[in-house]
Amino acid sequence: MAIIITDECINCGACEPECPNTAIYEGADDWRYKDGTSLDGSVVLPDGKQVNADEVQKPISDEFYYIAPDKCTECKGFHDEPQCAAVCPVDCCVPDEDHLETEETLLAKQRFMHPE
Ligand code: SF4
Ligand code: SF4
Repeated sequence: MAIIITDECINCGACEPECPNTAIYEGADDWRYKDGTSLDGSVVLPDGKQVNADEVQKPISDEFYYIAPDKCTECKGFHDEPQCAAVCPVDCCVPDEDHLETEETLLAKQRFMHPE
């Protein structure tokens, strides 16, 4: 599953640079699939959704740092544990029960965003 940032976030910014998928954005900032990935132009995600990787996406939170769930792999393929959760001083990066994914799915997402 993806990780989600709760409203206990104190907007310290510690997590953002730690994300290997560039899935974390500051509140009110736009996000894009292409940021920090190899995705470019029109792509079909492993879950079948078609997106434009260059297109600017609306912020998921205007108040707190947030995670784009489509880009979060729980750090699978890069690290043994979610790096955002490891550095967060208030432990507000938690599993997102609304975005349940198997390890296989997470690894497939990681390979899709970062092909060799
Ligand atoms: S778990 Fe890893 S991939 Fe997901 S948002 Fe946190 S740092 Fe990024
Ligand atoms: S490290 Fe935690 S408190 Fe700091 S911005 Fe990230 S989620 Fe918010």
